Amino acid sequence: MSYSSEAQVDEAFNTVSDTFKSNVTKPLEWRIKQLRKTWWMLEDNRERIVTALNQDLNKHRQETLPVDVAGVQSACLEALAHIKEWTKDEKPRQTDPFNLFGGARIRKEPKGVALIISAWNYPFMELFEPMLSAIAAGCTAILKPSELAPASEKLIAEIVPKYLDQSAIRVVTAGPKQMNYLLERKWHHIFFTGSTAVGKIIYAKAAPNLTTVTLELGGRGPAIVTPSADIDLAAKRIANAKFMNAGQICVGVNHVFVDPSVKQKFIAALSKYFDEYRSGQSRQPAYATRIVNERHYKRLDNLLEKTQGKIVYGGDRNPETRFFGPTVVDGVTTDDSLLSEELFGPILPILDATLEEAINYTVKHDHPLALYGFTSSQAEKDKILRLTSSGGVCFNDAILHMLVKDAPFGGVGASGMGAYHGPFGFKEFTHLRTVVNVPAWLELLLKVRYAPYTNKKAVA
Ligand code: NAD
Repeated sequence: MSYSSEAQVDEAFNTVSDTFKSNVTKPLEWRIKQLRKTWWMLEDNRERIVTALNQDLNKHRQETLPVDVAGVQSACLEALAHIKEWTKDEKPRQTDPFNLFGGARIRKEPKGVALIISAWNYPFMELFEPMLSAIAAGCTAILKPSELAPASEKLIAEIVPKYLDQSAIRVVTAGPKQMNYLLERKWHHIFFTGSTAVGKIIYAKAAPNLTTVTLELGGRGPAIVTPSADIDLAAKRIANAKFMNAGQICVGVNHVFVDPSVKQKFIAALSKYFDEYRSGQSRQPAYATRIVNERHYKRLDNLLEKTQGKIVYGGDRNPETRFFGPTVVDGVTTDDSLLSEELFGPILPILDATLEEAINYTVKHDHPLALYGFTSSQAEKDKILRLTSSGGVCFNDAILHMLVKDAPFGGVGASGMGAYHGPFGFKEFTHLRTVVNVPAWLELLLKVRYAPYTNKKAVA
């Protein structure tokens, strides 16, 4: 698909900027209509979304529908159900004279014109969920899908204009080179989903205009398996997180720390479940998601070639189809190639580590987006929470914490800033504006503030 020209970017930007200034996006009716239309856009195009993701990633409909269609529709319904409550003025809790007599309140105002940039691994969800937040907040927006999922990008560019208000919500297409021009516009908010490296570029580009940013960045989430865990279930769930989308998930499991006393049992269980998910050992199932492109395939291939660890499961891969079988590598040490960057793929490095060693390694590195503890001990869970930091935490499973309704989803430190989902997404696109109206009669109390300052007037 060809990229938007600078003239097209200008036209789109000027249009959504003018629309924001015209105030048409502020009434609730406009927002509700766009939210409803988004739901229908997904409903009417669900099979085309399945097909697009199948073309881009060989993703199976069973992986696509719950996330890129039903997941976004559910977010639409949540926004529709709560928009009145989210947008309502709030009263400050304290009862000082300004609150009591000045009618102090906090207005929820749209930040303005937003740029939403997404990644390719869940290209509809990562673009449309923040868009719903922007719409609910009353912003206008330009959507920039990832160029690495071209069938999805093309479909997004086709359907958005058919369903949504074109004066307020536009799609532009761009690769990394064209992003400079887009990022030089004066945005009121940028919502970015992608790698930590590009997140830093976005942050720097936002700085000259003092544009606020939400950065949903890279993962590198560890799993820690202690002897107290249900080892079979831990393996079943971790294997699932690596198999789904070929491990190309920001909240996937990057590497596993396993206590040596349970390691062999854990690896045997992992192998059993990977066999099951593949419908038999060494199968390249037709339903397996492939690696997104040749560059990422070669990146994973190189990391695996360089590892000092031992492949104990899988390792089979095919550069022609970009199928990369789930691959378990044992005996990985902390200086191994497999720990040099976020894997974002189906390789699972296993490190021998006690809980303390796992925590020590984790706290010495960037805060991950997600952290997974597999343990039945409350004391161990408390220890993990007390001593580490991460965007989110899930005990005894992976990924599921991001499904919690009304809870923030986002990173911390190198895994991002800001959060979304439900009211938290709404807040990212909202300016909280404090308003107070000071009555004349409050002079009775306020008169002490005026000069000349005398002892008689001293208040403190
Ligand atoms: P990426 O950072 O390469 O690209 C993301 C977006 O940025 C794309 O739209 C791309 O066109 C744009 N981009 C790329 N280079 C750019 C540049 N130099 N200047 C400006 N824009 C540029 O990431 P990706 O490969 O699309 O996605 C994988 C990464 O995203 C992983 O690190 C993954 O963990 C992360 N991710 C995070 C989340 C989350 O919610 N935290 C979700 C999905 C993916």
